[in-house]
Amino acid sequence: MTDALSLEQLRAWVDGFAASVKEHREELTELDSAIGDADHGSNMDRGLRAVGEALEAKPPADAAALFTTVGMTLVSKVGGASGPLFGTFFMRVGQALKGVDAVDVAALTAALEAGTEGVVARGKAEAGDKTMYDALAPAVAALREAGAASPGEALAAAASAARAGAEATVPLQARKGRASYLGERSIGHQDPGATSVALLLEAAAAAGGGARAT
Ligand code: ADP
Ligand code: MG
Repeated sequence: MTDALSLEQLRAWVDGFAASVKEHREELTELDSAIGDADHGSNMDRGLRAVGEALEAKPPADAAALFTTVGMTLVSKVGGASGPLFGTFFMRVGQALKGVDAVDVAALTAALEAGTEGVVARGKAEAGDKTMYDALAPAVAALREAGAASPGEALAAAASAARAGAEATVPLQARKGRASYLGERSIGHQDPGATSVALLLEAAAAAGGGARAT
């Protein structure tokens, strides 16, 4: 018997992420105004609003369909770097969950790892480039280390790691994306995409808290 997240919990994760991005939209845009073009908050908020509409219009039958819809909607509705990157992330998560009955810690780890690999395949970011990867990679590592913990505990560890990863982008010089055009002037600001990843994992931890399924 393993602890697994229900489809309702996964849906609550996506809805919680959308609500959190909406709440932090101005903050995300301010971060992007320092080292980009001041659209990250509105990009993510617009995309996730469209996600909510797509999920209402056609409620997904399983976890794979849920995340595939999230990813495809982000790719089609959000321009710039973050649409294709977050979109690819969620599409790969959906693919990885195909045919998976119990979304337990092992399945979650494999899925988020696949999503992160998709981000790297698309954007070629490496650790320390000051991108969303700098929050995703430590989150995946924390999940892997969580091993036998419950999904709620594992996701709480992943959320802390993602938040720490996002904060650790502050002293870095950007080597990918728009922020890289600023060279040394990108130093001293937190990466907006990594900050969105922290919100994503915090929403996951909130939705997965105390999960006990059969
Ligand atoms: P744009 O840069 O096109 O305006 P956004 O402002 O929505 O798009 O998103 C910017 C975020 O995208 C950055 O903060 C960074 O985390 C992420 N990003 C940009 N380029 C890459 C890349 N090549 N690999 C991974 N993440 C990237
Ligand atoms: Mg931008």
